[in-house]
Amino acid sequence: MFDLKKYRKKSPWILHYNAGSCNGCDIEILASLAPKYDLERFGVINTGNPKQSDIFLVTGPVTYRSRERLVELYTQMPEPKVVIAVGSCTCTGGVFRDMYNVEDGIDRYIPVDVYIAGCAVSPELIIDGVVKALEILEKKSKEMEKALKLFKEATSENGVINRRNVALKVGEVHEEN
Ligand code: SF4
Repeated sequence: MFDLKKYRKKSPWILHYNAGSCNGCDIEILASLAPKYDLERFGVINTGNPKQSDIFLVTGPVTYRSRERLVELYTQMPEPKVVIAVGSCTCTGGVFRDMYNVEDGIDRYIPVDVYIAGCAVSPELIIDGVVKALEILEKKSKEMEKALKLFKEATSENGVINRRNVALKVGEVHEEN
């Protein structure tokens, strides 16, 4: 049977977005994908399509012009997904903090799972962050599967889902009638 979870773990696809960085961390991301550091050995592929991505790698403090695209790309990615903030300016605004045209970090707009501090971050740290992201992705996949399983198990009467049945399974509450 086709096991999506297995393939997602073996070959997570990455979406890289620059939300107004100085390009320092973007160059390090490219270096981590190049043969010397070879992030692809974990099956990681850099893709340009949010609808096929599992990991969102973001750089930059979020400029006013980039914030809408940031949120749009995030919402286009299917669940489960993991967001990595690459670089100090992406985590908190860094050297751009309190400037008139930036938002001081991406977590003001989208939830972040992994923060990688540094200015610029090294390829080793980026690889560490992606490996951590893979663990989180697996955990999220399991949680989704559990919810899906409970949903499938729920009985349906006249098109209405029997939530009481689901509650009994989740909370393991036994009622005696
Ligand atoms: S953390 Fe530093 S090097 Fe990286 S994008 Fe921001 S300002 Fe540039």
